[in-house]
Amino acid sequence: MAALSPMMAQYFELKKQHKDEILFFRLGDFYEMFYDDAILASKELELTLTGRDCGQEERAPMCGVPFHSYESYVARLIAKGYKVAICEQMEDPALAKGLVKRDVIRVITPGTVIENSMLKDDRNNYLCSIYRTKERVGLCFADVSTGCAHTTEIRDIAPGETIIAELCRFSPTEILFNGAVLDLKEVTQYIKQRMTCSVELMEDEYYQPERVDELLKTQFGEDWAAQEHIDPSGNVPGALAAVLQYMQRTQKRGVERLKTIYSYAETQYMQLSPITRMNLELTETMRGREKKGTLLWVLDKTETAMGKRLLRDWLERPLVDAAMINRRLDAVQALVNAGVERDELRAALDRVFDMERLLTRSVYGTASPRDVYALAQTCCQLPAVREMADRCGSPVLSEMAARIDPLEDIRDDVFSALDEEVPSTLKDGGVIRAGYSAEVDELRQIVHGGRDYLSQMEAKLKEETGIRTLKVGYNRVFGYYIEISKSFSDQVPASFVRKQTLANAERYITPELKDWENKILGANERLLVLERQLFEELLQRIAGQQARIQATADAVAQLDVLASLAQTAVENRYTRPEVDEGTEIHITEGRHPVIEQMLKGALFVPNDTLLDQGDNRMLIITGPNMAGKSTYMRQNALITLMAQIGSFVPAASCHVGVVDAIFTRVGASDDLAAGQSTFMVEMTEVAEILQNATPRSLVILDEIGRGTSTFDGMSIARAVVEHIADPSKGLGCKTLFATHYHELTDLENTLDGVKNYNIAVKKRGEDITFLRRIVRGPADDSYGIEVARLAGLPAQVTRRAKEVLRRLEATAPDAHKVEQLDFDKLEEYNSPSVPSEVIEKLKGLDVETLTPIEALNFLYELKQHF
Ligand code: ADP
Ligand code: MG
Repeated sequence: MAALSPMMAQYFELKKQHKDEILFFRLGDFYEMFYDDAILASKELELTLTGRDCGQEERAPMCGVPFHSYESYVARLIAKGYKVAICEQMEDPALAKGLVKRDVIRVITPGTVIENSMLKDDRNNYLCSIYRTKERVGLCFADVSTGCAHTTEIRDIAPGETIIAELCRFSPTEILFNGAVLDLKEVTQYIKQRMTCSVELMEDEYYQPERVDELLKTQFGEDWAAQEHIDPSGNVPGALAAVLQYMQRTQKRGVERLKTIYSYAETQYMQLSPITRMNLELTETMRGREKKGTLLWVLDKTETAMGKRLLRDWLERPLVDAAMINRRLDAVQALVNAGVERDELRAALDRVFDMERLLTRSVYGTASPRDVYALAQTCCQLPAVREMADRCGSPVLSEMAARIDPLEDIRDDVFSALDEEVPSTLKDGGVIRAGYSAEVDELRQIVHGGRDYLSQMEAKLKEETGIRTLKVGYNRVFGYYIEISKSFSDQVPASFVRKQTLANAERYITPELKDWENKILGANERLLVLERQLFEELLQRIAGQQARIQATADAVAQLDVLASLAQTAVENRYTRPEVDEGTEIHITEGRHPVIEQMLKGALFVPNDTLLDQGDNRMLIITGPNMAGKSTYMRQNALITLMAQIGSFVPAASCHVGVVDAIFTRVGASDDLAAGQSTFMVEMTEVAEILQNATPRSLVILDEIGRGTSTFDGMSIARAVVEHIADPSKGLGCKTLFATHYHELTDLENTLDGVKNYNIAVKKRGEDITFLRRIVRGPADDSYGIEVARLAGLPAQVTRRAKEVLRRLEATAPDAHKVEQLDFDKLEEYNSPSVPSEVIEKLKGLDVETLTPIEALNFLYELKQHF
């Protein structure tokens, strides 16, 4: 086989070290990809696949992207979970002898990107690291773009569920783990099936204790364990060290930016399973996976990207400590009361840019001149933010205000160094402000003076030669030239040297012009180098103030979130919840925060709720379809959750004794993709609740038992209720239970702590009206036919259904109430005047879920028996 061309040999040498990444190989103005990379990228990016001679018989498959727009292509690959290695030319091709030197300068991965174009500004981008040994797991979620990491230690031989819950909370885009994690099948399966993220198996050497200690000392100082509240004998150090090493390997610089460590214990936050997050639609809707229609959408009135990220974080992690919750509520309260200050605070925040990520790019040295200018403009807002927060008269807010450093030195430094009309890139100069550097000013004078000189020269030559069309111009390939149209060729002086011929003009050079060219180009080149150097020095000075900027950014983000919560509270007429360590949830005139906003104009009917760990442990809620059962239950869950993030709530009054977890089992969310039947999914979820709920939990069960036959379903539902309501089984937690099995309402008489409620409807003749009011007692009727009519079933059909129902009622007075049969005495119902098959069929009928067509078919079938 023929030998590879030298460049291709160089390519393979680099590719060998970057097997898992798509290699962007810089070739002049393009990044080229070859072989498998090219085939993959051409498909994913819709690029034309071409070929390139590589010294061998077959041409190498190749595709490429222009270097100046590579970011958007990389962004698309990253979003799909790929990693991209960027290989640059390490010397100027024009000066290189032989093959241009090339090297990979950085590997861009989903979890390590810092470019704005590849990040969403309203959410953190987490790189997760899981380090597992026998009984311990260290978890670390690092956001490289903001320099913060959350770490926690799990002590459990079977930590699968906890890991999954945390993965769901942070939704990382990339996961690093050691070999032992592979044994947690449920975790690997969850990652594979439910998450779009790239994964990286880290070798054991990354976790060697000495190496870990060494790394953490360099990063956080000698006493890193005490400083960052990390247990040095646990697994968090290993997980954290893996992140640092991975950053070094991929980014090669900027690792020092990762400085802020929040170590947390899982028990500090309300437990929310992935299913519950989904059901409650906290940050994305179930259907469209959109923000609109979620609790986040209702609450988000933040003004800054940092605030947006933090609000999302608060929502993903409600607190359980009443004192901490009340601290937040105090601050929100103060901001609600101080309307003027709040308005001014928010106006100032509106002009605050994303300091955290601007800082990151400064530390990495990739910030653009405009980035840095934006950082200084942000500093200008800080005094106002600080003053307004301080003026609200709340100790909590004043404390935060005190943490805002106005960063005047940075502001002044940037403003004195950078021009007001600062360009977005360094490549054409014009970045450094006049008067900042004597040398820059001098060089500029030469360049500009030179240009003046050239226009003078043009005028002089025109006069000397008498050629009207003579022009002095410049282009990148030929440099400065004198252009004369062909019609004047015969008048060109002999001292002009011809350089280039165009269609209707000739270009010339003279020794004088050449001299000037050298001087100007030299000065210009020197100027660009100098401007870049001064700018980089500025970046370094900013990076040197990392800790101050980060602390300020942190306080600003918190103020933004608190102001947003206050603004929402005012606009949506929320009230302050009373939060304590008690066991009661007592809400008067509660509303559903999201549906109330969606209704727009139409009135949302408020409802009361009383739940405790005594007589009102379990509320069994009945009522026809569409009455509002699901809405009512969710609104209680959402109000509780809002209270525990420190938000005001949509209610006239609200008392929440903190709950340690919310569990939901809602509707029949099919999970066919995962290959499980609806019923299996439902039962797995119920099982999870029974295993994990504590007496302090809040449980929402919406129509369980639907996925199977009526009697199976009813039996299971009943058994579940009995189990949950019984404190001797270790539970007895606060539960809202909606069901269409009216039989279950008799549990009120047999079980302690169970109370029946129903959502009232008014029946007038054929019509029913939904009152949306929750009232004590079981629903008296299922109104199946009326609801069917409301849903648009033709009058003919509903009339006929009534007729059948009446006939059934006449012949077997209780038969139509098949859903209210005494559960234990089903066999006794067997009226002789109705054929027993009819009774059987009716017993098996689930009126609530019947579609119009099924109803018709059913009636037709019944008729066959008479
Ligand atoms: P169910 O679970 O009983 O079948 P839902 O809770 O799904 O009923 O409610 C059906 C619809 O009724 C909701 O989509 C909502 O638009 C409306 N609704 C429910 N509760 C209220 C209320 N309290 N005030 C106004 N409209 C409501
Ligand atoms: Mg419902």
